[in-house]
Amino acid sequence: MKTETVKKKTGMYENVMKQFNHAADVMNLDEGVRKILSSTNNEIVVHFPVKLDNGKIEVFTGYRVQHNNALGPYKGGLRYHPTVDIDAARALAIWMTWKTALAGLPYGGGKGGIEIDPKKYSISELERITRRFTYALGENIGPDHDIPAPDVNTNAQIMAWISDFFVSTKAPGMRHTNLHVVTGKPVGSGGLAGRDRATGFGVVATIKSWAALKNKEIKGKSYIVQGFGNVGYWAAHFMNKLGAKMTAVQDASATIFNEDGIDPEELLAYAKANGGAIKGFPNAEEMNSKDFYGVDCDIAIPAALGNQITLENVDTIKASLIAEGANGPTDVAAEAKLLIRGIDVIPDILCNGGGVIGSYYEWLQNKRAENWKIDHVLSLLEEKLEASFENTVNAAKEYNTDWRTAAYIVALKRLEVTYKERGVFP
Ligand code: GLU
Repeated sequence: MKTETVKKKTGMYENVMKQFNHAADVMNLDEGVRKILSSTNNEIVVHFPVKLDNGKIEVFTGYRVQHNNALGPYKGGLRYHPTVDIDAARALAIWMTWKTALAGLPYGGGKGGIEIDPKKYSISELERITRRFTYALGENIGPDHDIPAPDVNTNAQIMAWISDFFVSTKAPGMRHTNLHVVTGKPVGSGGLAGRDRATGFGVVATIKSWAALKNKEIKGKSYIVQGFGNVGYWAAHFMNKLGAKMTAVQDASATIFNEDGIDPEELLAYAKANGGAIKGFPNAEEMNSKDFYGVDCDIAIPAALGNQITLENVDTIKASLIAEGANGPTDVAAEAKLLIRGIDVIPDILCNGGGVIGSYYEWLQNKRAENWKIDHVLSLLEEKLEASFENTVNAAKEYNTDWRTAAYIVALKRLEVTYKERGVFP
């Protein structure tokens, strides 16, 4: 029993708290605000039964952690993955508070999900699991209280089920004032054009800001991607549009390599026909998964799970930039080594902020009962990320610190000001 618990833990909570405490020290964060932000506001754990296709009942465990809402409603994704536990939900909720504050959004941070391997269930089972989870969460979520979105293994379809269940429980006249209980919905159900690609597009927007700052060209650069889900695919799509070349990809099924480049569109078509897995892709060779981060390349884009770049593989890294599409992919000890070697890291709360920024525009679109155009959305996204990148680089100069700590400082200052102005009730 004990070994199982240890095995399940991702160690992300420890990581986020180390990052937070370091930034709080560097900026000398107000002591009271530090105490408030060191703990989560609410932690909801639900156990709910669902009838499977074979007629048997299974009980699932779901989580929603609400870290902080000083700047606005709790905001953040729902993840369906076996590693989801209370520590992972806590860590991911805390990262959302920093991410929304850094982007200047009127949101706090929340995160949750179900401890489940969704591959083991049919579509109709996933629909029932999702609807029953939404029922179990009840009024703990809401369009002006806590707004979930897609994350690992969840997508627009799952958001549509959540939204449909949630609005169906409201009086008929309240349907459209509850639609924005989730973001990342399909466009036909109130979703935002471009929200599907917002995170990957944003990852590439921050890489463009990095290239401009360092006087580098993206064209001709080689890059590797860990995770070929929504974030990994769209990041690759936009990198290739800029003339970069993807030489290795890793997902849960395989690690594949081709020095001449792997075409993201071809790989996506292959994966779609292969249950989502990249294993067996004909235009690449399969390689040992342990050697993935050691592949010779200019840019590495972790776009899967947390704690992937660790002391075990950090010394093998060849890239000169790590662009964190995932949440928490680099652990604190490994990052220290990267910085000594002069490898740049665009930290997760900046690099993957495009997702929640896109969510914010979807939320506004729903509140205003409008339909926004994709070009408009993508240009707003790019502008916001450029501003966050600049704020981070400026804070790094001012405090003579690394970009992650600087991004935290920008976020924490916003929270500190709010608490100082408003005081603490009563
Ligand atoms: N799951 C995404 C993230 O980690 C998006 C969250 C959102 O849009 O609320 O940032």
